[in-house]
Amino acid sequence: MVFKALTIAGSDNSGGAGIQADLKVFSAFRVYGMSAVTSVTVQNSFGVIKSHPVSPDIVYSQIETVAQDIPVDSVKIGMLQSAGNVEAVTQALVDFNLKNIVLDTVIASKNGTLLLDRNAFDIFIKKLIPLADIITPNRDEAEIITGIKIKEIKDMKKAAEEIGKMGAKTVVIKGGHVETGSNVVDVIYNKKEFIPLQYPRVDTPHTHGTGCTFSSAIASCLARQMETVKAIRLARAYVQGAIENSLQTGRGTGSLNHFWTVM
Ligand code: PLP
Repeated sequence: MVFKALTIAGSDNSGGAGIQADLKVFSAFRVYGMSAVTSVTVQNSFGVIKSHPVSPDIVYSQIETVAQDIPVDSVKIGMLQSAGNVEAVTQALVDFNLKNIVLDTVIASKNGTLLLDRNAFDIFIKKLIPLADIITPNRDEAEIITGIKIKEIKDMKKAAEEIGKMGAKTVVIKGGHVETGSNVVDVIYNKKEFIPLQYPRVDTPHTHGTGCTFSSAIASCLARQMETVKAIRLARAYVQGAIENSLQTGRGTGSLNHFWTVM
């Protein structure tokens, strides 16, 4: 049996995030990876220098041509950059009845470059979030989406509830940026209960692409027909190993090791 996942995301020419990371993750999970490129970014280990959005009609057509031909078992959505692309992706998800949608709320890069235009925030929240089966904001993104200041775990829970009310079925607030000491606590909220996931904080600067890696690992598990919470748990364990074995790729911020399970 072949499991097939589609990533709708930006290209990272330095290989650690975006489409390039997603396809590596799909491969690590032995899932057949497909892509719709939404933006071409120009970056290296020192950060994003510039980016160019792909036109919405080309984004829509990439999804259309694949979906009309090849069954898509899960979808990961990453950087969309423009309001037009948010609109195009939303339309395509509906038109082709795509399932198992993991939405990574890519808003800004580590070096502060905006990866989603400000004029796209509103439509992102109103139209795309309600279509997400699983949404994976980090602290900063959850704050932007909800307006809630997040300092501790109870704030993460409050933000998760708010994002749940916006329509996402399962919310995972990532705790990497939250000051919880030597452990990182992520909070899963599935509208029934809060499930904390706790891992030791890894002392490494080489964490480029962590968000992309987590969301595409979840999408890989969903493509493999795994149940939601189990998929999130396995993806989180995979990310932990990928950070613990991270790679100093260049002279700046290195990337995760997507193939740590094999060598
Ligand atoms: N480039 C692309 C295409 C991305 O999708 C992302 C994050 O999702 C980044 C860069 C930023 O990655 P990081 O903040 O981990 O360096």
